[in-house]
Amino acid sequence: MAHEDCLFCKIVKGEVPAEIVREGERTLAFRDINPQAPTHVLIVPRDHHPDAAAAAAAGAGLLDEIVRDAHEVAVAEGVADTGYRLVFNTGSGAGQTVFHLHGHLLGGRGLNWPPG
Ligand code: C5P
Repeated sequence: MAHEDCLFCKIVKGEVPAEIVREGERTLAFRDINPQAPTHVLIVPRDHHPDAAAAAAAGAGLLDEIVRDAHEVAVAEGVADTGYRLVFNTGSGAGQTVFHLHGHLLGGRGLNWPPG
C-alpha cells in the first residue's frame, strides 16, 4: 500500500527517478542520491512501512528479505568480501529523514566504529 507524499513510495511507483540496481517482487534497491561511500544503495520494501520496527511488527519476513537483498547487492558490487555496513536509521534523532523503511548498504571504503 503506497502513502501519498512518501518519496520512496513515489520511487517504487516510478514517479520519481532513481538508479535502480535490483528489483524484487516485494523490494527495490536503488543508489542513494547523496552517496556516503563508493557503494551506497538503499533497499526498500515496495509497501509502505515507516521504519524497521514497524515492518518487523507487521511480520511477513520483509526484514529478512531486505538483508538478503543487501547481501546480494554487496556481492554484485564487489564489497561483500571486504565488508559492508547495513544501517536502518530509526527516528529523526538518529538521522532518519525519509519515513519509509530503507536499509543503507554502505561499502567500498573503510568504515569506522563507532559511527557518527
Ligand atoms: O536514513 P535517512 O532517512 O536519512 O536516509 C534517507 C536517504 O535517502 C538519504 O541518504 C538521502 O540521500 C536519500 N535520498 C535518495 N533519493 C532521494 C532523496 C533522498 O536517495 N530522491
